[in-house]
Amino acid sequence: MGPSQIPPLTYKVVAECSVSKARAGLMTLRHSEVNTPVFMPVGTQGTLKGIVPDQLIELNCQILLGNTYHLGLRPGIETLRKAGGLHKFMGWPRAILTDSGGFQMVSLLQLAEIDEHGVNFRSPFDNSQCMLTPEHSIQIQNAIGADIMMQLDDVVKTTTTGPRVEEAMERTIRWVDRCIEAHARDDDQSLFPIVQGGLDVPTSRATDGRGFCGGSGVCVALGIDMFDCVFPTRTARFGCALVDSGQLNLKQPKYKLDMEPIDKDCDCSTCKRYTRSYLHHIATNESVSSSLLSIHNVAYQLRLMRSMREAIQQDEFPKFVADFMARHFKAEPVPAWIREALSAVNIQLPADPERSDDQDQKPETEKRRETEDAADEQVASS
Ligand SMILES: [Zn+2]
Repeated sequence: MGPSQIPPLTYKVVAECSVSKARAGLMTLRHSEVNTPVFMPVGTQGTLKGIVPDQLIELNCQILLGNTYHLGLRPGIETLRKAGGLHKFMGWPRAILTDSGGFQMVSLLQLAEIDEHGVNFRSPFDNSQCMLTPEHSIQIQNAIGADIMMQLDDVVKTTTTGPRVEEAMERTIRWVDRCIEAHARDDDQSLFPIVQGGLDVPTSRATDGRGFCGGSGVCVALGIDMFDCVFPTRTARFGCALVDSGQLNLKQPKYKLDMEPIDKDCDCSTCKRYTRSYLHHIATNESVSSSLLSIHNVAYQLRLMRSMREAIQQDEFPKFVADFMARHFKAEPVPAWIREALSAVNIQLPADPERSDDQDQKPETEKRRETEDAADEQVASS
């Protein structure tokens, strides 16, 4: 990159929480500016299930995540290059972040072998053998043209212990150097190394940010800026709408005569036009209902992040977290792991009403949801 050129990523901190490590920032990428903390919907195959790019722009979505592993297999490098990259191919003018393909290793580990060279996969599509090396991962991501790319890392399951963990950390550092070496478009694409567990990448590596594995809903408090999740679109396909108190399962008969929108304070097109009753009515028509619910669910996640950002800027983030937890868990105990993670960054939640914390106990809403889902599956299969 020449000294006169603008770097492919600049980040500036806009506000910091005076209590926790939460921060609000502005990231400038080649295709768009991104306000952080930010939620990134996942467009696995270059499409978000149930939502088209124009609808995402209407929801003020600034950045999407694409999966390198899937895009490398289909449509593949040749098509991506001919199309001029994924932005043009899928008609998305704003920023894209790609993962390295490494995360799929964990889910496909029974199909993969890892050595110093890279990861050997058996393709789930045609059973052919394919090798993903750090160089090949970067080659695919260069063809995709993502604003932010991730290095290939040596993934271990979170339950793994012993020397294998150390081996993976050390190999991941060696692989970041191979990725930097292979990166052919460092004038317009940023490369993030992956940090696993407590691993700290030496600061001598000239990279623009860091990826973390194992994120969670309280990450903003810990100072993390970007999140991705398939949850809003996946849960929509099961007829569920996200609200502060958890989820509404619109397949339930109690919504049959409910003429309210999913959330009367939500400004998404689904809430503006449709009632819970209508969504209940079409809930068995999967493609239409999952599309309408996906729009609401992605709108919900994006709005939640915007509210967090505003709370950080007003230096009211701890209050925001406490209020949200109170709405989300209502009379149920906040799980111990959430309390502990927040306490580690100086956010103390008020004591739970009546009952004491029970680490093994799932919240009632979760138990109910599982029962409902099981019931739905039985209905579907009968
Ligand atoms: Zn809505």
